[in-house]
Amino acid sequence: MMMVEPESDRVEARLVAGEYACPACRVGWLRPWGFARPRALRDRGREVVIQPRRSRCGSCLVTHVLLPTLVFLRRRDLAEVIGEALRARVIEATSRAKVAEAARVHPDTLRGWLRRFAARAPEIRAEFSTWAHRFDAGLGAIEARGSPAADALEAIGVAAAAAARRLGPSPVWGFVAGASGGLLLANTSCPLPLRD
Ligand SMILES: [Zn+2]
Repeated sequence: MMMVEPESDRVEARLVAGEYACPACRVGWLRPWGFARPRALRDRGREVVIQPRRSRCGSCLVTHVLLPTLVFLRRRDLAEVIGEALRARVIEATSRAKVAEAARVHPDTLRGWLRRFAARAPEIRAEFSTWAHRFDAGLGAIEARGSPAADALEAIGVAAAAAARRLGPSPVWGFVAGASGGLLLANTSCPLPLRD
């Protein structure tokens, strides 16, 4: 599995042109290799179906699903919906009921996102602090915000801003999905391969 930009026509053009390096062997280039199964996603209650491209490395012959940075692995709701919910709850202290309603998800789903994010918060903070300094070597220390989850969101915000200064503007949660390899809310102690 590899995260790619959300625009499918651009992915197609880059794939055909052989512009994606194979993440497995880092020698070969990925070529079109059919499609993965369609996935039904949710955008604030609205169903969005995507069918990610599959690709195969011309060198090591390993296949990779090209997952757009609209999503996190094994989450049905769009990355942006999850990200906004985390921000509203953690930074703005909006009530759980209101956040769940805005995201159009069951409160248990929101609770699951918050729990997972909080459990990974120190790791996420470290990961995105590294990204921030990679994009802007002149950055100082990232400010503490009073809780591990708020600290992690601060690091995400600083890293996204640094990435935008270097690479041009792009949606924050798309950047987060790409930079985390789709694993922001993954259970890292028990990684499961993405089925294609
Ligand atoms: Zn390869």
